Amino acid sequence: MSAMLEEIRPDAATPRRERKRVVIIGAGFAGIAAAHALRHADVEIVVIDRRNHHIFQPLLYQVATAVLSPAEIAAPIRQLEAKQRNVTVLLAEVTGVDVASRTIEAASPGAGVRKNAFDYLVVATGMRPSYFGHDEFARYAPGLKNLTDAETIRAKILGAFELAATTEDDDERARQMTFVLVGAGPSGVELAGSLAHLVKVTLRGNFHRIDPAKASIILLDAGNRVLPTYVEPLSRRATRRLTKLGVKVMTGVKVEAVDDKGVIAGGNRIPSATVVWTAGVAASPIPKMLGTKTDRAGRALVDPFLKVVEMPAVFVVGDAASVMQKGRPVPGVAQAAIQEGRYVGRLIASELKGRKLNRPFRYFDKGNMAVVGKNYAVLERGSLHTSGFLTWLVWAFVHILSLPQLQNRLRVQRQWVWSYFTGQRSSRLIPETHELGH
Ligand SMILES: Cc1cc2nc3c(=O)[nH]c(=O)nc-3n(C[C@H](O)[C@H](O)[C@H](O)COP(=O)(O)OP(=O)(O)OC[C@H]3O[C@@H](n4cnc5c(N)ncnc54)[C@H](O)[C@@H]3O)c2cc1C
Repeated sequence: MSAMLEEIRPDAATPRRERKRVVIIGAGFAGIAAAHALRHADVEIVVIDRRNHHIFQPLLYQVATAVLSPAEIAAPIRQLEAKQRNVTVLLAEVTGVDVASRTIEAASPGAGVRKNAFDYLVVATGMRPSYFGHDEFARYAPGLKNLTDAETIRAKILGAFELAATTEDDDERARQMTFVLVGAGPSGVELAGSLAHLVKVTLRGNFHRIDPAKASIILLDAGNRVLPTYVEPLSRRATRRLTKLGVKVMTGVKVEAVDDKGVIAGGNRIPSATVVWTAGVAASPIPKMLGTKTDRAGRALVDPFLKVVEMPAVFVVGDAASVMQKGRPVPGVAQAAIQEGRYVGRLIASELKGRKLNRPFRYFDKGNMAVVGKNYAVLERGSLHTSGFLTWLVWAFVHILSLPQLQNRLRVQRQWVWSYFTGQRSSRLIPETHELGH
C-alpha cells in the first residue's frame, strides 16, 4: 500500500488494514451516486476527481447564455467528506490504471504522480467533446462540457456584440453577429433557443449602433432532423419552435472546416466569429486504460452487472460505460448515470457483506426533456410525447429539484423568476482575461 493511502482517514469501527478500499474515479452523477450508495458500508471510499466541483451539466447552456452564473450549477465535491464518514476526496487527475496490480496512478497538484491501491474500482469518468478526427476545430469551436467551456462561449457571444458595435466594416459586423451551433442534439437545441431569447429580449436597447435582434443564429447538423434521439413528431415541433424564435435550422449539412473566419458547411462558407461545437462526444481515455473492449466512442463494454468482463472488481458506470438493455443502448443521460452508480454501490456493499447480488442492472427510463426557448419544452417518456408550456413547467420543476445543494435550488429559482418576468440576465460578464475576437 502506498504511503499516501496510509494517510487516508480511517473510520474508527474497523482497523484500517482490514477494510476494503473502493476507488471511484470521477465525481459526476455516477461517481457521487456510487459513493452515496456505499454510505453505510464498512469500507474506505476514495473519490478522485480532477476538478474540485461537481457540475450539473444539463444547465451548462444557461451559463453559456448568461442566465446563470457558474457557481449556481456546481457544488464542491469535498462536501462529500462532511456528509459521509467513510469517504475521502482527492483532487487529482488519474493518469494510469493497472488492473493486474490493482493500482491507479493519479497526479495531484503540487504532489506529482502517486500510486493508489484499490480492492474495487469504479470508473465514472464521463465523456468529452469529439471533433470526429478534426481536433483542429477545437481552437475555434469550443465544446460545452464544463464551466470553463460555458464561460468561454458566454464571453465569445457577448464579445461578438461589442465588436459588432465598434467595427466600421459591414461584412465584419455581419460575421460578428452570426452564431453557428454545430450539432442539433439537446445541447445545441437548448443553446440555440436560449441564445435567440438573449439577442431578442435581453440585449434589446443595449446598443445604439447595432440591433442585436438582427443577429443570425444557425443550427447545423449532418443528420436529417433536430433532436434525433426523440420521436419524429417532437423533432418537427422543436424545429418549428426554433424557426419561430428566428433560428435557422440546417439539417443534412456536414461541417467540413472550422477556422478563424467561420465554418465551411455543405460546400458553402458561413462567416462567423462564434462557432460552438455540440456535435459529438467520446469517452475519457480511462476506459481504454483498463485494457478491455470499448465501443467506437471509447466507452467500456460492460456485462449486465456493469462489471468489466473478466475483471471482477472493476466497474464502469455512467457515460463512460456502454450498457445494453433489451438489445438497445442505455442512453448517456444523467438518470442513467445516477441509476448505474447507485446500482454498483449497492452491489459492492452486498459483496462486502458476503452476499451475491444476482439481479442485473435495469435502467428505469424516467423520460427525456429538452427546452426550446422560453416557455416551451419537449418530453418523451415511453409512449408519452408532450410539448409546450406545461411541459416546460415540469422541466423547470424537475431541474430545480435535481440541482445539487439547497442553496443552488433557491438561487436558480430566483434567477429564473427574475429573468422570466424582466427578460434580464444578470450574468453577462466578459472576463478581463478573455481575448476578444478572431
Ligand atoms: C451540455 C450538456 C447538457 C446535458 N443535458 C442533459 C439533460 O438535459 N438531461 C440529462 O439527463 N443529461 C444531460 N446531459 C448528459 C449528462 O450530463 C451526462 O449523462 C452525465 O453527466 C453523465 O454522468 P457521469 O457521472 O457519467 O459523467 P460526468 O458527469 O461527466 O462526470 C465525470 C467526472 O469524471 C471526472 N474525470 C474525468 N476524467 C478524469 C480523470 N482522468 N481523473 C479524475 N477525474 C476525471 C470529471 O472531472 C467529472 O467530474 C448533458 C450533458 C452535457 C455536456
